[in-house]
Order: sequence, then C-alpha cells, then structure tokens
Amino acid sequence: MPPKSTPKTPPHAPAFRRKLLAWFRRHGRDLPWRRTRDPYRVLVSEFMLQQTQVSRVEGFYHRFLAAFPTVHHLARARPGRVREEWDGLGYYRRAANLQRLAQTVVAEHDGRIPDEVAKLNALPGVGLYTAGAVASFAYEQAVPAVDTNVARVLRRAFHPRIGVDAKAARRLWETAATLLPRPGPSAWAFNQAIMELGALICTARIARCGECPVRSACSTGRREKKREEGRERREE
Ligand code: SF4
Repeated sequence: MPPKSTPKTPPHAPAFRRKLLAWFRRHGRDLPWRRTRDPYRVLVSEFMLQQTQVSRVEGFYHRFLAAFPTVHHLARARPGRVREEWDGLGYYRRAANLQRLAQTVVAEHDGRIPDEVAKLNALPGVGLYTAGAVASFAYEQAVPAVDTNVARVLRRAFHPRIGVDAKAARRLWETAATLLPRPGPSAWAFNQAIMELGALICTARIARCGECPVRSACSTGRREKKREEGRERREE
C-alpha cells in the first residue's frame, strides 16, 4: 500500500535508521540473493521466500538457477520441467506464476525485468511487496517493501497502538517511506536490514528488546525499558 500523501517523519527516525544500518553491517546474514543485483535472481528468491523459510530456500535457489539461469531459459522451459525443479519447495502456483512472469517479460519487456514498481506490480504473481522488493533489491531504489516482518517492526517501533485494517497498513507503508535513505546501496541495505531485524530480533514469537540495536529509537522498546526500570526500583 504505497503512500498517498506526504507522510510525517516519526520521532527517532534518524536514530532508528542509523542504528539499524550499523547493526546490519555487522550482523546481517550472508545470503546468496544478497550477493546479487540481478533482477531475475532477486525475483526468483522473492518468489521462493513467499511462505518458505530462508534455510529451506537456499538449496532450491541454486538448483533452480542452475536449471534456468536467465529469464529466457525459464520462459521457454517445459512447465513440467519447471515443476520438477521446484519440487520439494511446495506451493507450486508460485513456480507457474514465475514462469508466466518470465514469458510476459520476454514478450512485453524485451526480456528486461522492469524497474518501476507499477510495472513490476502488473506482472503475474507480483504484489506490492514483491514489486517494492525487486525495485529495491535489484535496482537500489528508495521504495518501501513492507512484508509481514517489516510491518511488525514498524508497528512496534512507531505505531504500537495502530489497528490492523487497510488504513493502518497504508500508514505503515508511509512510515517505511519516510525512513528510507536516498536511492543507492543504503536504500538497499535499509530494506534488507529492517527485514532482518524482523526475522532475527523482533520476531512474531518474541520481541528481543534487550538485545535489539534500535531499542532506544523504538516506542515499544523504550516503554518496556521504563517498565523494567520501574520494577527494579520497586525491588530495591
Ligand atoms: S526494541 Fe523490541 S519492539 Fe522495538 S524493534 Fe527492537 S525488538 Fe522490536
């Protein structure tokens, strides 16, 4: 849900961005799709990561790309072969959509994966999140890519009392847009970093505020810290 108007930058945004980027430089995982800016490879990884954990995707990612190294190879492959190479990863509709996407890119975009969010979003199987992710991770654009992990971090850090409706989702996209650094490697790193924080520290199961690098810039983390300090004072 991209922003409709110019949103306000939340308090602590610069500190949040700075601390998050510094943490990611030291602790971000070295994942194969983070070593490339090839839009086809980024797209393959994004399709595989939908509904599947990172640890399971790595092996399939290499196998699939060995079988179909370019968008042209995938576009002209037999559908049965595509399914074979996807076998074990589940949710085969993703593989079918990925092949339809490859065929559309070859037929309508001269084999070049678009760099504009709107054009990416119009491709088969590409929602707003994936469109933002490809624009950011392949083309280093300063566009938000808000998946479940990112939405959770933004909610806890900046909007702890926000609802769960479409308006709230729009607000989270707006906040993500205000936090982004300028286009280039930092915009790429920011989107990777906030996803990584949601995957490793600020998880759905538990918010590990005590070891979180952005705690001092996070509404929930600051509130929890005050509570802890209050408890400690009462126990003294
Ligand atoms: S301080 Fe806690 S709630 Fe805030 S981002 Fe970190 S883990 Fe999440």
